[in-house]
Amino acid sequence: MNAQPTPSLRTIIPTEQQPTEDSSGGWQAILRAGFGSNSTPLPTIQPLLTPFAPPTLVISGDTDVVAIPPVEVSGDLRPTINAIVTPTRPAPTPSPAATIEITAQSVTRPPSVWQPPPLVPPISRDPLGRDHYWFSRPVDSNATNYALFSYPYGSRGPQKDNPWRIHNGVDMPNPIGQTVRAAGPGTVLWAGGGFQNTFSYGNAIFIKHDFGYRGQTLYTLYAHLSAVLVTAGEIVNAGDPIGLVGNTGRVSGPHVHFEVRMGGERYGDTYNPLLWMVPYVGHGVIAGRVMDGRGNLINDHLVTVRDWRTGLVTDSVTTYIYEDTPSDVNADPLWGENFVVADVPVGRYEVITSVDGQRVSKIIDVVEGTTAFVELSPLEPATAQPAGTP
Ligand SMILES: [Zn+2]
Repeated sequence: MNAQPTPSLRTIIPTEQQPTEDSSGGWQAILRAGFGSNSTPLPTIQPLLTPFAPPTLVISGDTDVVAIPPVEVSGDLRPTINAIVTPTRPAPTPSPAATIEITAQSVTRPPSVWQPPPLVPPISRDPLGRDHYWFSRPVDSNATNYALFSYPYGSRGPQKDNPWRIHNGVDMPNPIGQTVRAAGPGTVLWAGGGFQNTFSYGNAIFIKHDFGYRGQTLYTLYAHLSAVLVTAGEIVNAGDPIGLVGNTGRVSGPHVHFEVRMGGERYGDTYNPLLWMVPYVGHGVIAGRVMDGRGNLINDHLVTVRDWRTGLVTDSVTTYIYEDTPSDVNADPLWGENFVVADVPVGRYEVITSVDGQRVSKIIDVVEGTTAFVELSPLEPATAQPAGTP
């Protein structure tokens, strides 16, 4: 599924044909018999006296390359096959220059961040059963498959003076046309524009999954697509291609916006997808709560994660904004977190924030495929600094 590279990226490694020696001795035997000692000498190769000039391709002047505008695609993309073929008069033989076809090249781009294969969902490795990594990522491993830090789940974006709406999902920036895949098996409830009477999502796909969580139905949403490859009512499996990345709706650039909704289909029923998408081999997730001195959750607060061994900051995220409205984001029913950092390599980390000017931090160990949970509060004793760091 999303561990596999797309077939177009597969390369064929040329193999060298080794000469085989037959049992009768073959050409070696002929050489041993002295063939060649009195035969015609091989011609010697004359060096080129004129410099080599590569041939130039003549493209006729009327073969203008026209940029093709993006096509709004929706509905069934399967080609219709016409059983009756009308014979047509053969076209006149074109001049040699006009036979040069201009075809679209599929460019293989290197992954922006190398990823090991994902673990196979569903997994729940937490000894207390709190984990539910039941979905795969909506894009392939060689695509950008991590959430954009600048607009994490539950935040209002990078600009404090020009806040965006509270982010009910995660954004994975990718070029237009990148395959978007079903995160789990289910039934397509919506495929196209105007999802829930808003055009902000552009072309969107909404899937009701075959499984739920603690008696509640699970849904996933994939937005801003350039094309939808499924229709409402269609049954999909995890990893099925359902659409292509685009920039439809309210966007600043092409990406897939991915949401997990639980217990309801509404805008206010979202949960952090980072607690639902299966981690990669050798990776885990850090989730936690930042609280003030009275134990209240603190909104929109920066949390940084530092590798304990190297002392380097590896991640940062902001805590969720809660406004006590029906369109708010939600904390996981069991974890009760207000921040999540995903794709953390296994190891020891210091999770740091600042509450009322006081540095608050804790050391945690990230274990593969599980959530490491941390509570940050000024009531807790501060951690010692790693050796060799300021
Ligand atoms: Zn988004």
